[in-house]
Amino acid sequence: MIDQFGREIDYLRVSITDRCNLRCRYCMPEDLPFIPHEKILRYEEILRFCGLAAQEGIRHIKVTGGEPLVRKGCIDFLKALKGLPGIEHVTLTTNGVLLKEAVPQLLELGLDGINISLDTLNPDTYEKITGKNQFHQVWEGMMEAVRGGLRVKINCVPQMESTPEEWVALATLCRDYPIDLRFIELMPIGRGRGLSLVKGDTILTALREAFPGLVLDERPHGFGPARYYTAPGFQGAVGFIDAVSNCFCEGCNRVRLTSEGFLKLCLSHPDGVDFRTLLRSGATDQEIRKAFQEAVFKKPRRHQFELKSETETPNMSQIGG
Ligand code: SAM
Ligand code: SF4
Repeated sequence: MIDQFGREIDYLRVSITDRCNLRCRYCMPEDLPFIPHEKILRYEEILRFCGLAAQEGIRHIKVTGGEPLVRKGCIDFLKALKGLPGIEHVTLTTNGVLLKEAVPQLLELGLDGINISLDTLNPDTYEKITGKNQFHQVWEGMMEAVRGGLRVKINCVPQMESTPEEWVALATLCRDYPIDLRFIELMPIGRGRGLSLVKGDTILTALREAFPGLVLDERPHGFGPARYYTAPGFQGAVGFIDAVSNCFCEGCNRVRLTSEGFLKLCLSHPDGVDFRTLLRSGATDQEIRKAFQEAVFKKPRRHQFELKSETETPNMSQIGG
């Protein structure tokens, strides 16, 4: 599918829940009311949507949340997604709290990769950021995934209090394990609005000092916007997703389906289409495909991070990242 600006759109992020077992301070407020169950798409509805989206050219699906592993039936849903004709990759983004027990099933269903959110290696800081004392559980889940041979990427949103020593320690994971770690700039969305970010370039400068052999890594690392670096002796690579300081909308390849069935055409833009109403109103496959195609064509040129006023209300936990 080609949009109005000539970009090929083949990647869909699907949020299956707005609920989460953590409360990351830049993502989800403590008192956020949950969306009532009847407003959340049922798995059959999401699968129908994804199957039709695949017929239109979607090839890669990332399942997200809230925390996807808290929704009952997530594993069977992933298995069903893997079976959809036309879908080449199914991956999962998780905070890792419930990962350890899920690893054998994820391996069995042939998941193509997993993103684990981990902003710090310090258990106390982890608790300050996420509101929960779960660092060791996440670490064990991650190690289980690595041991099992799952392709693991870490999503790290460095916080203002983080230090160059910590960035180096995080990057060292890519040397010691076959892991890609991406430093993601904190985005001014929902709870992230008003918080300070650490620029990717600041971190890269510190890493260059610690790892003088660090060079741009041209090998493919998936389908996202990160640029990667590696150094001699590294098993994985260190990536940067500088969405704020370095707009990469020109090469954007994705759209997002929220757990309520709203197709968001851009992470930070209110435009989109309510597919829940369409799915529940008896629309034919043909009608849904056409609506999807037309919506994707209208994908906005770029995000609206720089606008001071709120362009929309959702938090990242409601969008899915
Ligand atoms: N709960 C899962 C997780 O944490 O991976 C999936 C959903 S979470 C919303 C997806 C990603 O969005 C996480 O890696 C998280 O760090 C990131 N995220 C949340 N709020 C953000 C913000 N304001 N700026 C940048 N990334 C953010
Ligand atoms: Fe939950 Fe993920 Fe948001 Fe943290 S980033 S509150 S784990 S949805």
